[in-house]
Amino acid sequence: MSDQPGEDYFPLTVETIVDYLARHETVAAILGGDPEDWSVSEIGDGNLNLVFHVESTTAAIIAKQALPYIRARGEDFPLPLSRAYFEYEALLRQSNRAPGATPSTILFDGKLALTVMEFLAPHIILRKGLVRGLLYPRLAEDMGKFLARTLFRGSQFSMSEAERNADIEMFAGNSALCDVTNARVFTEPYCDAVLNRWTSPQLDETVAKIRSDDEFKHGIAEMKRIYKSKPQSLLHGDLHSGSVMVTEDDTRVIDPEFAFYGPMGFDVGALLANLLIAYIVQPAHASDADDRKSYASWVLETIEGVWSIFVEEFTHLWHSEQIMTAENERALSLLLAEVLEDSLGFSAAKMTRRVIGAAHVEDLESIANTDERAIYEKKVLTVARTLLLERKELTRIDAVTAVARNAR
Ligand code: ADP
Ligand code: MG
Repeated sequence: MSDQPGEDYFPLTVETIVDYLARHETVAAILGGDPEDWSVSEIGDGNLNLVFHVESTTAAIIAKQALPYIRARGEDFPLPLSRAYFEYEALLRQSNRAPGATPSTILFDGKLALTVMEFLAPHIILRKGLVRGLLYPRLAEDMGKFLARTLFRGSQFSMSEAERNADIEMFAGNSALCDVTNARVFTEPYCDAVLNRWTSPQLDETVAKIRSDDEFKHGIAEMKRIYKSKPQSLLHGDLHSGSVMVTEDDTRVIDPEFAFYGPMGFDVGALLANLLIAYIVQPAHASDADDRKSYASWVLETIEGVWSIFVEEFTHLWHSEQIMTAENERALSLLLAEVLEDSLGFSAAKMTRRVIGAAHVEDLESIANTDERAIYEKKVLTVARTLLLERKELTRIDAVTAVARNAR
């Protein structure tokens, strides 16, 4: 699939999408009835793409279409359409490797950079549930297993050399999205980039301090190097709490358009970072009805659970599916230690950029009083710094949650 819009590319609208979908038998059969009775809305709350919800009287689907630019920034910020292809290919691999953990796909149209997929309902975006204080009893187990299954089965321990090399080469085509991550996560927060913003003036001094904190910046530079140079497994690439949709008894991972071969800790760390932010802000969301104390404890238990289930499931796959039979127990424990260390470093980068970089998060933005918000943002930055600088010493997940619990 080429990066430039071809002659056949056109962005769909709520007016044109019904005709388009009605011409595809598989979609028409799922929705059923007369296409004239389908109702359409555009629900994209993300930064990048068009997301249409199309509903008949009996069923509903999602149609996600890439634009040749970054939706939230406009046509002056081009981004290749091929990201839709990589997202679709990643969804296929994830659904094979972690059955039931993604929306199922119905159709991919490369010319339109469009994927039609299952509409998840009554799921909501995990981040919104975390802000509202909703419990998800399955979250730790489902995400721990998702991470272990996709990261193990997308690695050299599961794929043949030939298959893996071909796939690395294929996903190397998604470089424009890796460039976005490089810029937004590892580079821009530490220099004068136009898209940066922070709670000002409350955080002005803090930002100046970070910019002159060589120890911290060297740590971030090392994480950037690891991000670019360790094709350990096929990653989701953007596994924050806005890429997970949940109900009390179901967990699905969406939106893998940043997929590429990189360090396993990048996915684990993205999720941990967002759960840590969710934990840190809980007191700000307290009300008379709920002081959020027990909810905050649940978030920390979930962090510990994600990691311990990840280790358990990864270990199980190591013993039951591994193709590199010479690898032993010691190799496994070294690898898991490396994944945790990387995860903490990437968590730190991800937490920091949500406070001082371009893309912020509802967990913090929803704190209307900026003086109060700044207190929590500083806490996020403090925890991030500790995780980054002490990532070699924090060898147990309970030591990691203790850092968050003890942060002042
Ligand atoms: P972007 O890549 O632009 O960030 P997302 O894939 O994150 O787009 O989708 C944007 C929003 O659309 C999500 O936050 C979610 O609310 C909704 N959405 C996306 N896919 C689905 C789906 N399969 N089922 C239900 N809602 C979805
Ligand atoms: Mg998204």
